[in-house]
Amino acid sequence: MKYAERMDRLGSETAFEVLRQIQSFPKERQENIISFAIGEPDFNTPEHIKEAGINAIKEDYTHYTPSEGIPELRKAIADYVSEERNISVGPENIVVYPAAKIILSFAILTCTNPGDEVIYPNPGYPIYESLINVFGCKPIPAQLWEYADFNHNTDELRELITDKTKLIITNSPQNPTGSILNKNNLEAISEIALENDIWILSDEIYSNMVYDNIKYYSIAAAPDMQQRTIILDGFSKFFAMTGWRLGYSITNPKIAEYFARWSTNIVSCPASFTQMAGLTAMLEDKAPSLEMVREFEKRRNLICEKLNSIEGISVRTPKGAFYVFANVTEACRKLRLRDSLEFQEFLLEKGDVAVLSRDYFGTRAPEENQEYVRFSYCVSQEDIIRGIDRIKSAIE
Ligand code: PMP
Repeated sequence: MKYAERMDRLGSETAFEVLRQIQSFPKERQENIISFAIGEPDFNTPEHIKEAGINAIKEDYTHYTPSEGIPELRKAIADYVSEERNISVGPENIVVYPAAKIILSFAILTCTNPGDEVIYPNPGYPIYESLINVFGCKPIPAQLWEYADFNHNTDELRELITDKTKLIITNSPQNPTGSILNKNNLEAISEIALENDIWILSDEIYSNMVYDNIKYYSIAAAPDMQQRTIILDGFSKFFAMTGWRLGYSITNPKIAEYFARWSTNIVSCPASFTQMAGLTAMLEDKAPSLEMVREFEKRRNLICEKLNSIEGISVRTPKGAFYVFANVTEACRKLRLRDSLEFQEFLLEKGDVAVLSRDYFGTRAPEENQEYVRFSYCVSQEDIIRGIDRIKSAIE
C-alpha cells in the first residue's frame, strides 16, 4: 500500500510528545512533575459561558448552522473586534470555525499555489512550517532575534521577498517567545506587503493577553492593510475555551466567502451550541477573563524574576501570551549540555520539571548560536516558585 507523498511533509505539534513521555512515567512520578510545557490556560471556562452552552443544547441548538456561522455571533464578533482593534468590520468580514487553527490551512490554500513561497516566524508555532510544506509551498523562515525583543528585522525580511512570495505569516503576541510585535515593526512589514502585493496572515490568537497596559495593535489597522490581512483569532485563550473548539477569521468579504466555502467542503460548520456559548462570551461580562489575564501578568512577573535569579539563565520580560522564552546558553555551557534539547531532558530527569526546547518551534537557522527553552506559565504561582526553585537547585 502506498500513501500520498505529502504525508512525508506533514509535521506535528511535537509538544504533545513531551506530554506522552510524562504519561509513560509511573503515576507517583507523574504527579510530582511540574509542567511548564502545556500551552493552554489552566483556568476553566467561566460559569456563565458554560451555562450558555448547556442551555443551548437544551434549547435544541443541535442542528447545522450556516457554514460561516450564526449571524448574531458574527455580528457580535464584528462589533467586538472593531472596538478592540480600531478597525471597522461587519458580519460580512467574519467567519466562524470549529478551531482557529483551521484558518491557517484555509489561508494558505486560498492565497497560494504550489511552489509559491510563504514567510513565517522562526522560532514560531510549528504548525506554520508543517502546513506550508504539506500544501506544496516553500517555507521561508523569518528569523526573530532576542536582541530585537523577538521582533522581525525588516531589512532581513525584505531580502527574503521574491516574485514567488505570496503570504507572510505574523504572530503577535507570539508563541513561543511571548513577544509583541511593536507598531513600527508591523508598519514596516505592512509596507513590504503593500509594495510586493503580498497577503498577510496575522495570527492574533493571544491578542487579549497583553500586559503592562499595552494597547494591542493589529497589522490590519496599518494604512491600507485591512483588505489584505487575514486575522486569525478565537475563543480558546481569552475565554479559556480550548476544548470547545471555536475560532474566527476577520478578512475582506471575498476571502470570507472563500473561507466559508472551504468550511462547507470540510467541516460544514462549527457546533451550534458551541457558537451559542461563544455568543454569550462575546456579549456578556468579561470580568472573569480579565481577572485571568491579571493573574497571568502576576505569574509572568514572578517567573521572570525567579528565572533571572538563576545563574546561566536570562529572560527579557515578554509582554503577552503566557510564554517565557528563556535564554539558557550559559546554563547549557556550565552543565556541559550540547543544546536546549539536552537541557530540557536534564530538567525532566534531575528536577521533574517539563519545559520545551527551542527545537519544537521550527527548524533552527544555521547562524543561531543561542539556546532557549519555552516556559508556559499556565500553572499556579506556588508551582512557579516550586518549579523554578527545583531548576535552580538542579543547575547550581
Ligand atoms: N496559533 C497559535 C500561535 C497557537 O499557539 C494556537 C494554539 N496553541 C493556535 C493558533 C490554535 O488555536 P486553537 O486551538 O484555538 O485552534
